[in-house]
Amino acid sequence: MKNKCIKLILIFTLISCYVFSGCTSLSFNNKNQSTVANNVTRESNQKLMMNTIKSLAANNRTFGSDNEKKAYEYIENKIQSYGYKTQTQTFSFYNHTSDNKLQLKSSQNLIVIKRSKANYNKEAVIICAHYDCSENSVGANDNASGVSVVMETARLLKNVPSNYELRFIFFGGEELGGVGSNHYIKNLSSNDKKNIKAVINIDSIAQKGGSKPYIFTISGKKNFAVTLLERKPKDMNIKKTDREFSDYVAFDANKIPALCIGQAYDKNLKINSPQDTISLIDESKLKLVADTVINSLSN
Ligand SMILES: [Zn+2]
Repeated sequence: MKNKCIKLILIFTLISCYVFSGCTSLSFNNKNQSTVANNVTRESNQKLMMNTIKSLAANNRTFGSDNEKKAYEYIENKIQSYGYKTQTQTFSFYNHTSDNKLQLKSSQNLIVIKRSKANYNKEAVIICAHYDCSENSVGANDNASGVSVVMETARLLKNVPSNYELRFIFFGGEELGGVGSNHYIKNLSSNDKKNIKAVINIDSIAQKGGSKPYIFTISGKKNFAVTLLERKPKDMNIKKTDREFSDYVAFDANKIPALCIGQAYDKNLKINSPQDTISLIDESKLKLVADTVINSLSN
């Protein structure tokens, strides 16, 4: 009888432990879930970004070439598969051939607009990258890396309500002196120009052995575009521009707050050369920049 009693007490204790530990772990899980829900962090997918770079950097994408057009179509298809409508803006430009003749070439910008959560609010932020590259390169870092980040930003923010209208723009013809971005700005109405509150341009961010990505502004000072990057890592510094060129220059010249995230233009940077291939891409730099932009614009 006494043994039976002890057995019963033991069984009861075991059942109690199981039930209560189950309850404890259930409430713990609930607590974890609510913590995640309150601090939404959208993480970029390195594999998707690397796939984009692999596809784009399979070929040279010089201004006006068939391969530049193919790169455009690749980006357009992907962006449409994320549920966006796209707009095409074509432009032409005279270019010198190798035997110094003038040749008319054409290219195109790809524009994607995501309305703000208050649809009447037309204040816009542009997130952009150029997809062409220089003649002697396949441009993995310059600038398939930037394109992959803008595409990933568009994918992850598709259904996130945003205070600003977000415009994801992929420019052609940057290597000829920002032909695509200049064409875009020239065709803006003065009202539309006023409505653009910031430009975040991404150009050459992810080469192994290159510097950490910086935030470049023309003046080296903070502007409203920099303010928007509120989730930037502490060691992502602001630097006065040392880039030869990029699309944000034309916006800055039009008094629109603009920045460029990119690596320092020093002897270690292999852009505009045959060395700029996918083997030099550092996935962690892609992720750092993508997560910074995505989480800064997630409200
Ligand atoms: Zn570039």
